[in-house]
Amino acid sequence: MSELAAVIADLIRAGTDPELVGRLVSAIAQRSATNAQQAKQVSPGAVRMRRYREHRKDNGLDANQPEYIFHREAILERDASQCVYCASEEDLVLDHIVPICQGGTDHPDNLATACRPCNASKAGKTAEEWGREVLAEGARAAMLRYSAQRSATSATSATSPSPPVPPPSPPPPPPPPPPPPPQPPPPQKNK
Ligand SMILES: [Zn+2]
Repeated sequence: MSELAAVIADLIRAGTDPELVGRLVSAIAQRSATNAQQAKQVSPGAVRMRRYREHRKDNGLDANQPEYIFHREAILERDASQCVYCASEEDLVLDHIVPICQGGTDHPDNLATACRPCNASKAGKTAEEWGREVLAEGARAAMLRYSAQRSATSATSATSPSPPVPPPSPPPPPPPPPPPPPQPPPPQKNK
């Protein structure tokens, strides 16, 4: 600000209309207030990234060092370096077939090659919810394996909702409780 004060002093010394100098000062103040406000606003991309990391944590996945990056080469090779949704060969990223926000993990069978536009458009949806098909054979087989594995896991876990499983044969009923010991009759008072 001392630089600004020096400029103002020079302007006044040079005979600039003080009213003009005043307008300049308030315009500068307004601009810096707007800048400060904009700096406080969080971009939608940053909000999405924060949610994504929270979902990863909820799923027990590392939020900072995603495991899926280690599978990148193998997945790209399996999918012939093409987007499994539109066959594009450009701007490829890894897509979670079952999105992280729906409980998907970094398991290689849950990963597919996708172009960035498809990945962004699919976002937090499954391919089915998104209304598109997994075209690549290898990725489709992986998707089926993954969903079979998931439903097997969720059947044993009590926390996640799962299709009703026929219960095992019920245990034999417990033996009837022994009759209660005879109780002395309650004292009766005659009035
Ligand atoms: Zn695509």
